[in-house]
Amino acid sequence: MRQYNRIKEQHKDAILFFRMGDFYETFQDDAIVASKALGLTLTTRNNGGAAEVPLAGVPAKAVDGYIKQLVEQGFKVAICEQLEDPKQAKGIVERGVVEVVTPGTALDEAMLERTRSTYLVALTSYKDTLGLAFVDCSTGEFGMAEPDTDGLIAELRRLEPAELLVPLEWRGDHPGPPVGVVADLVAAPPALNPIKEWKPDLPVSLREGWRFDPSEAEPELCRRFGVSGLDGFGCTDFTTAIGAAGAIVQYVEEVQPAAVATLRPPRPLFAREHLALDETTLANLELLEPLRDGGRKATLLGIIDHTVTAIGARRLRTWIARPLTDRDTIVRRHHAVGQMVDDGMAREKVREALDPVHDLERLAGRVASGRANPRDLVALADTCRAVPVVRAILEELTNSPTDDPQDRWKALATRLQGHPVVVGAIDEAIVEEPPPKLGEGQTIRDGYNPPSLKVGFNKVFGYYLEVTKTHLAKVPDDWIRKQTISTGERFVTEELKEVESQILGADEKIAAMEAKLFGKLRTRIAEHATELQATADALAETDVLSALADVAARQHYCRPEITDEPGIAITAGRHPVVERWLEGEAFVPNDVALDSETNQLIILTGPNMAGKSTYLRQIGLITVLAQMGSWVPAESATIGIVDRLFTRVGASDSLARGQSTFLVEMIETANILHNATDRSLVLLDEIGRGTATFDGLAIAWAVSEHIHEGGVKPLTVFATHYHELTELEAILPRVKNYSIEVKEYGDEIVFLKRVKEGPSDRSYGIHVGRLAGLPDRVVGRAKEILANLEAGEWSADQVPTLAPGELAPKAVQGPSAQISLIAAEAKPDPLVEALIELDLDAMTPRQAQAWLYDWRKRMRTQQPSNE
Ligand code: ADP
Repeated sequence: MRQYNRIKEQHKDAILFFRMGDFYETFQDDAIVASKALGLTLTTRNNGGAAEVPLAGVPAKAVDGYIKQLVEQGFKVAICEQLEDPKQAKGIVERGVVEVVTPGTALDEAMLERTRSTYLVALTSYKDTLGLAFVDCSTGEFGMAEPDTDGLIAELRRLEPAELLVPLEWRGDHPGPPVGVVADLVAAPPALNPIKEWKPDLPVSLREGWRFDPSEAEPELCRRFGVSGLDGFGCTDFTTAIGAAGAIVQYVEEVQPAAVATLRPPRPLFAREHLALDETTLANLELLEPLRDGGRKATLLGIIDHTVTAIGARRLRTWIARPLTDRDTIVRRHHAVGQMVDDGMAREKVREALDPVHDLERLAGRVASGRANPRDLVALADTCRAVPVVRAILEELTNSPTDDPQDRWKALATRLQGHPVVVGAIDEAIVEEPPPKLGEGQTIRDGYNPPSLKVGFNKVFGYYLEVTKTHLAKVPDDWIRKQTISTGERFVTEELKEVESQILGADEKIAAMEAKLFGKLRTRIAEHATELQATADALAETDVLSALADVAARQHYCRPEITDEPGIAITAGRHPVVERWLEGEAFVPNDVALDSETNQLIILTGPNMAGKSTYLRQIGLITVLAQMGSWVPAESATIGIVDRLFTRVGASDSLARGQSTFLVEMIETANILHNATDRSLVLLDEIGRGTATFDGLAIAWAVSEHIHEGGVKPLTVFATHYHELTELEAILPRVKNYSIEVKEYGDEIVFLKRVKEGPSDRSYGIHVGRLAGLPDRVVGRAKEILANLEAGEWSADQVPTLAPGELAPKAVQGPSAQISLIAAEAKPDPLVEALIELDLDAMTPRQAQAWLYDWRKRMRTQQPSNE
C-alpha cells in the first residue's frame, strides 16, 4: 500500500490500474468509482490488520475493454505496470505508470472513431486574448488559433474536443465569456462556464499556469521541431496560442509519451482565412450534427459525404466546418471538382483506386509512436502500392497542354508518392499475412535476418542450424556441415550441441528475435513518417474532391461563380438535405437575389409550414458549399465571398435547461448586430417571437432598421410572421418583400413552397392548426375571430365585438385578444416573468449580471436535469 499510495499521489486525477499478477487492481476511492462505472464487485482487502481497503479488479487479459469503458465515461486511466519480473524481484516488485489513457489522447484503435478526429484542446488566456491549441495524437495533427470570446464555442464546436486542458489559475485579464451556471466544476476558472454549459460532461484536465507561459513554450517548440523561430510555421501573429501549444506538448509527453514523436509542426488557423460560422450557425444549419435526432442523414455532412476513405471523411468534415474566404483557392477547388464531373470515367477510376487505401494518417502515426503492429505495416505497404495507381489517373486527367499550372489535380499528383523504400522494406521483412500481434504467429519472413538462421530438429542429428544459400559464405569455419537441402545447408556447432537442452526454449528466443527485428523495421519506417503524412494529406484531398464531384454529378449541382463583390444570386436553388428527404415529392426550387444596392434586406413572410425556414437555410448552405469548394444545388449561383454567416433560427431547446429562450434569442441577435460586416450574410428566422406581440414587433422592427441603417450593410433575409414588417419596403430603399405562395382551394390550402416578390396577405395559422388536428369547434371559432379581427370590428370602448353576445364583455382591452391569439403556442417565458418583479433601471450592469447569474442557477436547480 505504501508503494500504491506513492504512485497514486502522482496521478490524483486518474483512476490507477495497479498491476498485480494477472489482474489490474483499483483501491480506495478509485475502487468505488471503478466498480460503479464498470459494474465490478467491490470487495475489501484487509491491510495487515489495519483498516479495510476497498478493492475492485479486472483481469489483465480483458483490460482494454475496461479502459475503453472508463475513458468513454470521461475518466482517465493510469496504467501502472510491474517493471520487473516478479520471479526475480527481491521484496516488492517495482512498479511504475507507463501511460495514462485520457479521452483526448487515446491511441487505441477501439477508442477512435474512423471518420472523426479525436482532439485534445488546450485553452488559456493572456492579457485580453484567448489562446487555443489542439492535437490529434493518432495522426499527429497539431494546430493553434486565437479565437475571440464570441468565437470560442464555435471553434470548440468545430473541433469537438474529447478533452480540454486548462490552467489551474486563469491568467491575464480576460474575463471570459459572460456569466454561466455551472458552479460545480471543481476549481475550474469561471471563464469556462460557457463551455461547461455547452457540454457539461466534457472532461477537463487542469495543469499549473506556468506551463501555459508563451515565453517558456516558444523555445521548447522550436527545439522540438528543429527550427530557429516560430515564424517558420507562420505563427508570429500568435502569443497566447503558443502558450497553449507549449502546455499541450508537455501534457502529451506526460500522459502519452509515445505520441509526442508523431506531432507535426503546429499549423496556425487565422480567422480571416475562413468563413466565420458562429456556434448557433454551425448548429442551426446542421452542418455536422443534427439539431434533433435526425441522425447523420439530417446533416449536410451526411448528405455530401461520398468519400471512400477514412482520411477523406475526416478531411471533408474540416472543409465543411471551415469554408474558405480566399477566392483563388475556392475557384481552384471548383475547377478540380469540375474536371471530374466532366470526366465520369476518371472519377470512377479514382474512387476505385482509393478503395484499398487504409487510414494512412493514423498508420503513419502508429509507426511514429512505435505502436504499429505487423498487420499495420502490411496495410501501410498495401496503401503505398495503391498510391501510384491514383497518381496515374490524376496525371492522365490533367494531361492536356492547355491546362493551367495552378491545377489542383496536378499539384496533388506530384504529392502522391508511392514510397518504394518503405514498401520494399516491409515486403522484404514481413510475411504476407502476419498475426495482429507480435508473437502470435510468424511475422518475419524466412531468410530475412542475415545469416538467416532457422533452428530445426530432426531425429537423425537432433538440433541443427539451417542457412539459406545466399548466406552460406558467412558461415563460420567451425560449423559442422550435416546436410544439404535445396534451399541451403544444415549445420551443427559445438555450442549448439552444448546448449541442446536449453534449446527447448528456442521458441522464446525466436519470439525475442522477431520482436527485435520488427522493432528495427518499425524504426526505419518511422523515419519516413513525415513523407507518409504528406502522401496521406494528398490522398485525403483527392478523396474529398472526387467525392464532391460525385455528389455534384449525381445530384445535379452547378458550379458557382465566385466574385469579390458582395452579393448572392441564386436561380432555382435547392436545400441539399431537404431535397433528398422528399422521396417522390418534388422539391420546389427557389431564387434569391441579395446585393448591397437594392436587395440588402429581404423580408420574407408566409404562413407556417410554407417553407420559410427551408428557404432561409438553403441560402446559407449553398454559401457554405460554394466557399468550401463544392458545387451547389442550383441552376446557377453567383456568390460574393462572405466573411461571416450568422443565423438565428427558431427557438432552441434551452428552455429545458432552465434558460430563457427569449434571452438566448436576444443574445444571438445582439451578437449579429455587433459583428456583422458589409460582407456578412445574416439569416433571421423569427425575431421577437418569444415575448408579447407588441414588444416583439417593436424589437423586430428596430432590428430591421438597424440592419438597414446601422452603418454596415450585411446581406440579410428575415423571415417573420409580423406582417407589419412588410411596410418597411415602402420607406427603406434596400428592403424587398418576398413571400411564399399559397393557393387556397375552398377550405383547403396548398403550400406551393414557391417564393415570390411581394408580401403575403394572410395568416394561415388556423389551417395549420386544423392540419395538426385541432378540434373542429376550435378551428371554426378561430376563423370567426380572425374574420372579426380583420374586419376591425372593435366597439367604441375598445371591447372586441367578437366576444359572443351572451357573454358579458369583461372590459377586455383590445390588443390582448390579439396577443393571446398569436402567442398562444408560446409558454410564458420564465425570465420575462421574473423581470416583471424587478426594477432593472435601478441596477448597475454588474448587479444585473449577478442577479441573472443567480436566477439561472436557481432555474437550473429547480429543474430536474432529465427534463
Ligand atoms: P416554415 O419555416 O415556413 O414553417 P419549413 O421551412 O419548416 O416551413 O417547411 C415546412 C415543410 O415543407 C418541411 O417539411 C419541408 O420539408 C417542406 N418544404 C420546405 N420547402 C420546400 C420546397 N421548396 N419544396 C418542397 N418542400 C418543401
